[in-house]
Parts: sequence; C-alpha cells; structure tokens
Amino acid sequence: GSVFASLVQAPEDPILGVTVAYNKDPSPNKLNLGVGAYRTEEGKPLVLDVVRRAEQLLVNDQSRVKEYLPIVGLADFNKLSAKLIFGADSPAIQANRVATVQCLSGTGSLRVGAEFLARHYHQLTIYIPQPTWGNHPKVFTLAGLSVKTYRYYDPATRGLNFQGLLEDLGAATSGAIVLLHACAHNPTGVDPTLEQWEQIRQLMRSKGLLPFFDSAYQVVALVVWWITGGQIENMLGFASGSLDADAQPVRMFVADGGECLAAQSYAKNMGLYGERVGALSIVCKTADVASKVESQLKLVIRPMYSNPPIHGASIVATILKDSKMYDEWTVELKAMADRIISMRKQLFDALSARGTPGDWSHIIKQIGMFTFTGLNGEQVAFMTKEYHIYMTSDGRISMAGLSSKTVPHLADAIHAAVT
Ligand code: PMP
Repeated sequence: GSVFASLVQAPEDPILGVTVAYNKDPSPNKLNLGVGAYRTEEGKPLVLDVVRRAEQLLVNDQSRVKEYLPIVGLADFNKLSAKLIFGADSPAIQANRVATVQCLSGTGSLRVGAEFLARHYHQLTIYIPQPTWGNHPKVFTLAGLSVKTYRYYDPATRGLNFQGLLEDLGAATSGAIVLLHACAHNPTGVDPTLEQWEQIRQLMRSKGLLPFFDSAYQVVALVVWWITGGQIENMLGFASGSLDADAQPVRMFVADGGECLAAQSYAKNMGLYGERVGALSIVCKTADVASKVESQLKLVIRPMYSNPPIHGASIVATILKDSKMYDEWTVELKAMADRIISMRKQLFDALSARGTPGDWSHIIKQIGMFTFTGLNGEQVAFMTKEYHIYMTSDGRISMAGLSSKTVPHLADAIHAAVT
C-alpha cells in the first residue's frame, strides 16, 4: 500500500473551491461570482493595454537576461512600490527608514511579514477583523502567530461596527499586532472614514499596537470612490483625482513617526494575478534599524524560495517609472472601476424593479470589487442549486464577474432566495 494511504481527502479551499465547483457545472446559465478577478462585459479576463505594452518593451530589450534576482527582489520595483503606498515625498522613504522586499503577491508578502514578526517581534498575537479574507487566519497561524479577532462589521446596519472595533482594540494585549485592510475591506466592502481611521490610529499608538496593513486594492478603491461623487475631494481637499488617496490611512500611521508593516499586491490593480507580484515594506524608526530588518527578511526568504520571479516585477517597474504609462494605467483602472460601479447600479435597480424585500442600498454603498450581500449560507446554497450561481458561502459576490446580460439572472435568484 501507499505510504500516504491513511491520508484523508482535504476539503477544497473555501474561495478557490467555488471555481472548482463552477467548472464542473454543465449549465449554460452558470455564473461565477466567487473569485475576485476582474472580467470584461463579455465575461473574459482582461490584460491591461499598458501591461501588454510594458511586456513588449521588456521582450524587445535584448540586454535583458534571466539571471536570478537578489533575495529581496528587483531594486527599482521595491523603491517604486514603497513610493506608491507611502507617497513619493514620504519622509520615511527619504530618511531610508523603509525596508522593502519583493514577495509573491499579497499572500507571500503577508506570509514573509508574519514569519519575520514571529521570529523577531516580542508579541505573537495578531488581531484580524471579523470577518476578513479567509486566507488571513491560515497564513498567520502557519507563520507562527496566534490569531484573535476584533469586531468590524455590523450585519444589522451592513456597515462598520466602530464601537465594537474600538472596544476590542482597546482591550487587546498591549503591543499586539493588528491586521488592517488598507482600503476596500474584503469581504465587506466597508471601510472606516478618515476621521475613524484617525481614532483607530490614536488608540493603537497609545497601546503600542503594531499596524500590519494589507493593501490588495490600492488605487482600485480610490478610482471607485472618485467616480462615485468626488467624496475624496471633500474629505482630503484634493483639487483633482489624485491616485494617492486610498493609501491615506497607511500614510496617517507613517506620518506619526511610528512603525508599521504593509503588504502590497499587484494582482487586482494591475491585473497581474498569476504573475504573483507584491511587496512587503516595514517602516522603521531609523535607517539603521531598517537595514537590520532587511537583513533579517533575507534570512526569512532565502530558505523559503530563495528569490522572487523577475517578469511581473519588471512589468510593474516599467509602468510605475514612466509617467505616461502610469497615467495610462490610471485611465484603464478608471474604466474597470466604472464597469464595477455600473454593475452595482444595475443590480440595485433590478432588485428594486422586482420589489425584492429588504434594503439593498449597501450594494451601491460598499467599496471595491465585492458586495457583501447579507445572504446567508442556506440562501447561497439555494442560488447555486436552482440558478447555478456560484459565490462564497458568506454571501460575498464579485461585482467584477457580472455583466449587463447576467444581472437579471442574479436578481431573479436573489429575489427567489429571500422570498
Ligand atoms: N489580501 C486580501 C484582502 C485579498 O483580498 C487578497 C486577494 N484576494 C490578497 C490579500 C492576496 O492576493 P494575492 O496573493 O493574489 O495578491
């Protein structure tokens, strides 16, 4: 018999398993709203024009070789990534207080950051929001941290449970790590306001809680905001749609001079999902500490995968360092955001037209790719069985997976599920 004969069959991943189930369904009307990847109105994956162009430039450049990158990755990419999240004029960058390493997309950045903390930080408890992205507890637990939760979402208002959040962080072990979604919280689409962020910052700093930002949707969320009525301008006093605004919470924490970590992903905002491009930055109090931190990050990375892949990071660096390409990127992002917002409106209108019981205004209020519908596991199972609509069992739907053609089918299914 096999030496592995005693293994039990493991369950599918709760998020990626949705696609596995979808692929097995022979129905022509099937609809996959499970995974957060952008789709066109025709339901096709999208490669940004600016990404294609950057790739062409890279391919045509005969001086480019396939040598190993350093353990920390592509130097240009790391600098540009830090600038994207902390701001081009960030005092922390200017003072060389930021250690940035290229990692395997957002997940890899979180994992490397967590393993570093498990080895070198004095507190092993990390607080994550309830609910959060399903992979968070697993990444942090396997890295050697001990996971606790803080209240975040209030199902009654379908908004932020700010009181609960303040109470739980207020009661947290001093010095503990706190995972914060930088913007477009997944799965709820609910973010604190900047005033609330400021209160969170003051509370966390007063208790010595260490912020670990997960930034998987930077720029995407901003563009959505920006289109939905220039709220950003009101909040921040911007004259034009600056693309920095949704990194604002992160920058508030950096501006106070304290330490923090940030994991960035280029999966959603550049559509580079499968290229696995991301960065981990650790903002330190001095350049000397940052240098030691970087040296220790290398010791985490080397035995894990030696060094990161070169192609995706080269695409990102090519785009971020060229102001024309950078602008093209934002225009293409705006088109993606426009389509997502239009899907939100169309779904909301379709439910209104059907007289579907309940208040569905959260569909147009929530931020980012996902709508946290409020549908329960039973209703989701019903929609999958009767309507061949696939989504995670917490009722999260990816608006980017919808199109004008499929909105009526989804609205019919939701209507049937709640009546
Ligand atoms: N954090 C959050 C909140 C996410 O939603 C995702 C992607 N779904 C990630 C991290 C990481 O994704 P990736 O590893 O593909 O960049």
